[in-house]
Amino acid sequence: MPDLFDLVVVGGGVIGLSVAWRAAGRGLRVAVVDPAPATSRTAASYAAAGMLAPVSEVTYTEEPLLRLGLASLERWPAFAAELTRASGHDLDLRADGTLDVAFGSDDLAALDDLAAFTASLGLPAERLTGRECRRLEPMLAPSVRGGMLAGGDSWVDPRRVTAALLAALGRAGATLVPDRVTGLLTDSGAARGVRLAGGGGLSAGRVVLAAGAWSGSLEGMPPEVLPPVRPVKGQIMRLRSPEPVLGRCVRGAVHGSHVYLVPRGDGGLVLGATQEELGFDTRVTAGGLWELLRDARELVPGVTELEVTETIAGLRPGSPDNLPLVGPTIMPGLDLATGHHRGGVLLAPLTADLCANGDGADPVLADLAGLCSPLRFAGAAPPRPPGTGPVENTPREQR
Ligand code: FAD
Repeated sequence: MPDLFDLVVVGGGVIGLSVAWRAAGRGLRVAVVDPAPATSRTAASYAAAGMLAPVSEVTYTEEPLLRLGLASLERWPAFAAELTRASGHDLDLRADGTLDVAFGSDDLAALDDLAAFTASLGLPAERLTGRECRRLEPMLAPSVRGGMLAGGDSWVDPRRVTAALLAALGRAGATLVPDRVTGLLTDSGAARGVRLAGGGGLSAGRVVLAAGAWSGSLEGMPPEVLPPVRPVKGQIMRLRSPEPVLGRCVRGAVHGSHVYLVPRGDGGLVLGATQEELGFDTRVTAGGLWELLRDARELVPGVTELEVTETIAGLRPGSPDNLPLVGPTIMPGLDLATGHHRGGVLLAPLTADLCANGDGADPVLADLAGLCSPLRFAGAAPPRPPGTGPVENTPREQR
């Protein structure tokens, strides 16, 4: 029997939909399986703020991630333009940079170090005084003592992106299957499609597993191909103001903990985010929201006057080394596109291109593919089932 599809993508978050759209654009017969594509309230893509900020997010130990982030940021304008043409949706992509600000002397010293590090890498970042920061963003607190402007960083509305991808996939003739995958169809040790919770299956030449935080514990998968991906909870809130409060993304270290504010084109403001290792827990807690508001008020005092329109918690797909897992596994016919942790929106265009470059025809992509090959974990112990290990509450990070 011929395969029903060339490609079945498991998961309809920003990653799965981007991979599927790229493949459909190459003329492949594509299906996406997800019980709630683009709209699952616990999926990371639905909660995400949408910062495309590899420069202001850079850390000393994560240069490979920076390389991936810069390569993907470069792709974003063309990806967005093409997606807007294909879907008719505006994505609210903006490129006014990210302003990182500091208060205490420790935060300021950390910012100085970061500015020196970014300069050493030749990245576009400018160190500013407190006054220069307030000139750019008048709503900032008078106590802001300095900042760094990462002029190339951008942001986008992730919900608009996934809605646009769904529309573009529909127009490209891809099939959306509103069901849950419960295992693989296999033949002689190779993946030949997926089983569906609703019964039956879909045969395909290739399967891409892009089920976000659920990728590491998907039922019915052979344990040796389950990726070491774990859920990392992020609480975030959406606010509304009659007048725009900020002109660009503002992030800050408030006495060691991080908070960010991302403006939306419609006057909204996204305030995030906690970073918690609590398995698949997606409760929005008073403590989480209190911390976000406490720190955001230090940055932009007027924030407490704004209307709260939404509070939500999403699950990031975390990987052991914070790098995504994209590419072939040890099982023929099964690829991964998961583990994007805090940067899946940023990394979506690159991930889609990496998956489309399976034959390695583009040497630049082939080089980047080496950084995120799932084979680096082949033979590693499977991840501990969520909730069974020691619970650790890490300090909040940028996303
Ligand atoms: P998800 O969006 O989680 O999608 C996974 C999909 O798989 C879901 O739709 C789910 O229904 C489906 N699925 C699960 N199990 C099955 C199954 N068995 N069968 C079929 N389908 C299944 N990134 C940035 O780049 N910039 C940001 O500013 C940013 N901010 C963030 C803020 C928060 C609070 C959070 C939580 C994340 C943030 N991220 C950000 C990270 C980013 O959201 C993620 O890296 C990205 O969304 C991951 O996308 P995904 O498609 O892999 O996973």
